[in-house]
Amino acid sequence: MLQDTFGRQFHYLRLSITDVCNFRCNYCLPEGYKKDGSPSFLTREEIRLVASAFATCGTSKIRITGGEPSLRKDLPEIISDISALNDVKQIALTTNGYKLDQRIDSWVNAGLTQLNVSIDSLDKNNFERITGHDRLNEIFAGLEKARQLGMTNIKINSVLMKSENAHEFPQFLDWLKTNAYTLRFIEVMQTNDNEVFFRQNHLSGGLIKAQLLEQGWQQVLRDKTAGPAQEFWHPDYAGRIGLIMPYSKDFCDSCNRLRVSAMGKLHLCLFGDQGFDIRHLLQSEDQRQELVAHLQNCLSNKKATHFLQQGETGITTNLSMLGG
Ligand code: SAM
Ligand code: SF4
Repeated sequence: MLQDTFGRQFHYLRLSITDVCNFRCNYCLPEGYKKDGSPSFLTREEIRLVASAFATCGTSKIRITGGEPSLRKDLPEIISDISALNDVKQIALTTNGYKLDQRIDSWVNAGLTQLNVSIDSLDKNNFERITGHDRLNEIFAGLEKARQLGMTNIKINSVLMKSENAHEFPQFLDWLKTNAYTLRFIEVMQTNDNEVFFRQNHLSGGLIKAQLLEQGWQQVLRDKTAGPAQEFWHPDYAGRIGLIMPYSKDFCDSCNRLRVSAMGKLHLCLFGDQGFDIRHLLQSEDQRQELVAHLQNCLSNKKATHFLQQGETGITTNLSMLGG
C-alpha cells in the first residue's frame, strides 16, 4: 500500500487523460481551452500501465478525469482496460455531461461503476451562462439513461459560488426530494488563473452545513478510509448531500488520493508545487518494479496539508490541467 510519512494511505487514484475541454466554466476555463504547443497525452497503453502499477500497490478506486475525458475517442477502451484489473473495484468518471445521453451505454458496458456529472445550475439559462453551453436537457436525459442502465452510484458536482448559483440552494434541495443522487457542493478553490473570481465568489461550506443541520439533515458517519467529503442524509429526501470544504480545518488529514496528469506526472496534491515525471517508466511492463519504487520514493515529499488558506495555489493554473 502506498503510504506517506504521516501514515496516510492512498488507495484512490485520480487519473487525467486529457487537458482539453469543450466547456468554458467561468471558474475554470473562462476563455475556453487554449492549446499550448502540441501536447501529447498519455496513450491508452501508458494509461493501462499506470493503472495496473497503482493497482499492484493497493489502489482499489480509479477516477478518470480531465479536461473533459469524454472528448477522448478511446474512453470506452480505457475504461475496459482498467476494468480488467482485478484489484480495482471502482472505476469512476467525472464528466461535464457533454453528449451523456449518447455515450453512457458504452461506458457502462465497458465497466464504469461510478459517474460524477458536473451541474452548477439547475436553471437552463444560468447553466449556459456559467459553462458557455446550453446542454442541461441532454445532461438530464443522460442521467436518466444511466439510472435505467442500473447505475446507482451517481453523483452531481456543483461548485458553490456566491454570486453565480448560491441563490439556487433551495431549488437544489427541492430537486433532491425526488432525485436519488448525491449532490456534492464543492467550495470554489483559488487557482493561479481565477484569483479575482475566487475572492468574489468563495462561500464557506460551513455556512451550508449549518443550514442543513438546522433543516434536519444528519451527517453520515464516515469510515476510516473515507475521503475528505462530508455527507448528509434526510428522511424526507431521496438524494443526499456531500460537502467538500478544502478551506476547512483538518481537511487534508483524511487525504486518500494521488493524481496523475495527462502528461504523465504524479501530483501528490492538487495544489502542490511540482509534478514528478513517471512517463519514462510507462514504456513497458518490465519497468513495473522501478515504477513502484519511484512512486514510493516520491511520496516522501508529500506535505501534511495544502496552503490554500494562505493563497498558495502551487503550480495549478486551473483544475482542467489536473482534473480537480
Ligand atoms: N470536465 C469535467 C467536469 O467538469 O466534470 C472533469 C474535470 S473538472 C476540472 C473536475 C471538477 O472540478 C468539476 O466538478 C469542476 O466543477 C471542478 N472544478 C473545476 N475548477 C474548480 C475550482 N476552481 N474550484 C472548485 N472546483 C472546481
Ligand atoms: Fe471543462 Fe470541467 Fe473545467 Fe468546466 S470544470 S471548464 S467542464 S474542465
